[in-house]
Amino acid sequence: MIPELKPDLDSVPLQTLYERLKPITVPPSSPNAKFSNWAKTFVCKPLAVFEPTDEYQCQLILALARREGKVVRAVGVGHSPSDLACTNEFMLRTKHLNKVLSVDFEKRRVTAQGGITLNDLHVCLGEHGLAMSNVGSISDQTLAGIVTTATHGTGIHYGVMSTHVLSLTLLLSDGSRVYCSRLEESDLFMASICGLGSTGLILNIELEVEPAFRLKEEAYSGSFEDIVSNIGIIAHSAEHAKICWFPAADTMRVYLQNRTNEEKRSVGNWFWDGLVGDYVMQFMLFVGRYFGTVTSWATRLAAWLVSHDSVRIDDSYRVFNLDCKYLQYTMEWAIPYSQAEACLHDLRDFILEEMNDPNGARPHFPIEVRFSAPDDIWLSPSSGHQTCWIGTVQYKPYGFPVPYRRLFDGFEKILARHQGRPHWAKAHLLTPADIENLYPDFEKFRKVLNQVDPSGVFRSEYIQRHFFGLPVDHRLFKLYRS
Ligand SMILES: Cc1cc2nc3c(=O)[nH]c(=O)nc-3n(C[C@H](O)[C@H](O)[C@H](O)COP(=O)(O)OP(=O)(O)OC[C@H]3O[C@@H](n4cnc5c(N)ncnc54)[C@H](O)[C@@H]3O)c2cc1C
Repeated sequence: MIPELKPDLDSVPLQTLYERLKPITVPPSSPNAKFSNWAKTFVCKPLAVFEPTDEYQCQLILALARREGKVVRAVGVGHSPSDLACTNEFMLRTKHLNKVLSVDFEKRRVTAQGGITLNDLHVCLGEHGLAMSNVGSISDQTLAGIVTTATHGTGIHYGVMSTHVLSLTLLLSDGSRVYCSRLEESDLFMASICGLGSTGLILNIELEVEPAFRLKEEAYSGSFEDIVSNIGIIAHSAEHAKICWFPAADTMRVYLQNRTNEEKRSVGNWFWDGLVGDYVMQFMLFVGRYFGTVTSWATRLAAWLVSHDSVRIDDSYRVFNLDCKYLQYTMEWAIPYSQAEACLHDLRDFILEEMNDPNGARPHFPIEVRFSAPDDIWLSPSSGHQTCWIGTVQYKPYGFPVPYRRLFDGFEKILARHQGRPHWAKAHLLTPADIENLYPDFEKFRKVLNQVDPSGVFRSEYIQRHFFGLPVDHRLFKLYRS
């Protein structure tokens, strides 16, 4: 490995390191000295929170961590639903490491710092007539956040977003800066494009993009049986196909998105989508905390509100993204696409059993069903096979907690039976032995970690628990210890 740059900070006195870091250290009295994920389900109070503005300051943070024997956890905007971004030691917020460094229209590529949000990246790409090829439900996340977690959109011929990464520049635990790609330092690259921030700090990301495009989205609803029995046709009938399932209504809505040159066309109106779909719905979900049947009515109302056939056309990322509504608990697993139909039937049987039980779980909506192409990224949940992603949410109306554990436990058992692999950013209970069973390249991954970070500077609590089997309670950072 050839380090490009490594200032000698190990000989700088400890006090000097602290002094140099002072301007970027969040004062302990500031609300930013604490961290909570977006859903407000996990919280932590790190020993120190740093907000560096350049690479040298990142090197200072790593030097201090080495000297003090502390972990450094990089954090984007904290949209991971689990405690993936949490730490009790040093937190490095990437909010100021958010510049676009170069855009090459001819070669269809962009290089940006890891802390840029997708929203900002879309704007910059749009100014150059370019766009990301595939995007998930939101664009609030940082580029490094989506890359390290193999965040996905949908499209049976489109890989998870990490598959569009051409190269990375990383800062390793010893302070050295390394460029890696499929051709150079390829093991480090394959480990880092879905490495959950454990290989190093991602400084820059070079991404393959395409000329800006509009998407035409055609949507229709149908019964669970009709849609699921045609899932193979549906998944292949558009560049980006996804299905939203409203379990209490036993209906599904299909969204088929294709590139188009047609003029923009919008759908929706403020009364049904805004007033009813948002305010009335949230109130019903709140009442559903006390009277479970109201939750089922809310689901039926939501299914009815979107039941008509519709067409809309807009800039790609606006169509890829959706309104994720309220704070939420969420879980999502990737199963081999070949298992999708059987798995969805098993999930439906489970939901019907629960809904027939007066004390059973009351699922919210939608259960999202999406697809991705196979890839070869070591820890990507879609490595090795075409994938169907199945994810569900339980909303927190007005921020209040709702029961979710019984529903998620039942789902997880079924998804695991269908060779499922959990989304890395969403809470799961996998042990190193489970991961080894699910991921043939896990040993290669751990070997890279031991090489590039022998003293464990990037081994946050999540990494220690899931990759190294250390006894870190999965409820350590939970807001409510349920
Ligand atoms: C409402 C909502 C919708 C979502 N939709 C989707 C979806 O459609 N598809 C999907 O797959 N996922 C989805 N997610 C999950 C989300 O994409 C991931 O959790 C993503 O990682 C969040 O990015 P972030 O910037 O918030 O990262 P954080 O949550 O802050 O961090 C995530 C990981 O990235 C690491 N990291 C961040 N920056 C760096 C860096 N510079 N260097 C090294 N490591 C770094 C952190 O250490 C951590 O391990 C959704 C989440 C929410 C809340």
